[in-house]
Amino acid sequence: MELWFTEKHTPDVNFSIRVDQQLCSMQSDFQRIDVFDSQEFGRFLTLDGYMMLTEKDEFIYHEMITHVPMAVHPDPKNILVIGGGDGGVVRELARYQSVQSIDLVEIDSMVVEVCKKYLPFTACSLDDPRVKISYADGIKFIRQREAEYDIIIVDSTDPFGPGEGLFTKEFYGSCYKALRDDGIMVNQHESPFYPEDATAMQRAHKRIAKSFPISRVYQAHIPTYPSGHWLFGFASKKYHPIKNMNPQKWEHLGITTAYYNTKLHSGSFCLPTYVEDMLKDVE
Ligand code: SAM
Repeated sequence: MELWFTEKHTPDVNFSIRVDQQLCSMQSDFQRIDVFDSQEFGRFLTLDGYMMLTEKDEFIYHEMITHVPMAVHPDPKNILVIGGGDGGVVRELARYQSVQSIDLVEIDSMVVEVCKKYLPFTACSLDDPRVKISYADGIKFIRQREAEYDIIIVDSTDPFGPGEGLFTKEFYGSCYKALRDDGIMVNQHESPFYPEDATAMQRAHKRIAKSFPISRVYQAHIPTYPSGHWLFGFASKKYHPIKNMNPQKWEHLGITTAYYNTKLHSGSFCLPTYVEDMLKDVE
């Protein structure tokens, strides 16, 4: 008998992975948390039945959401990660000696515990002495912060359930206030392909563009996310994502990656015409 994990990408499109074993299924105060083992994608985490990350392709998402802002900001020391309880973003940040503090604000402590137990490949740096984990709602946490961070990375679930508030104008305004004068915010920005995801993407972009002087979108191919065509938001008070990226300086750091590189960095901001048109419609 075969066991399959299936996620509905639209009411008419399913995405399925054949599963060898279900390793964990728990219900927290916020969501259902499942971990599976599979031939094709290795171990993978789902929340409320939505794919969060797989062992095989998580490097793409975590490298692109982290190294793009880190290669632009000239001296990123204090970083805030909102969401990100699997630890993948923290793992990538911890590779920078220059980083002095990483605040991780995750609403659900059970996600961190499950990932520490079953997904050590993403949770491996959560014990880094520079990491401070707060189990709190990112929306409330950010309201109390002012000019404290060089970079904010919003590694949230999709804009419904606990993640909904992380896509609002109020939240983006609070992120602006929590950043220093040359701060950068990067966020998980959904996808342009399926109508529901595209609407969420446009709504987020409109709100971010109203909150930051520089607001761009970049892309990556993530096989296990709906359509595989995934976007990230790059919002900045001062630095341009391509003009202010110093390839030699980043390459000199000697950080090895499997997806990100400084040529791809610039290329990822070159978007398909239909995506550019979607963004222009709301700018
Ligand atoms: N890379 C994944 C994606 O793009 O969907 C996200 C991974 S990470 C597991 C998402 C995390 O955001 C979850 O652990 C969830 O608990 C957390 N989260 C959702 N809403 C939140 C909120 N309001 N404050 C803090 N964390 C939140």
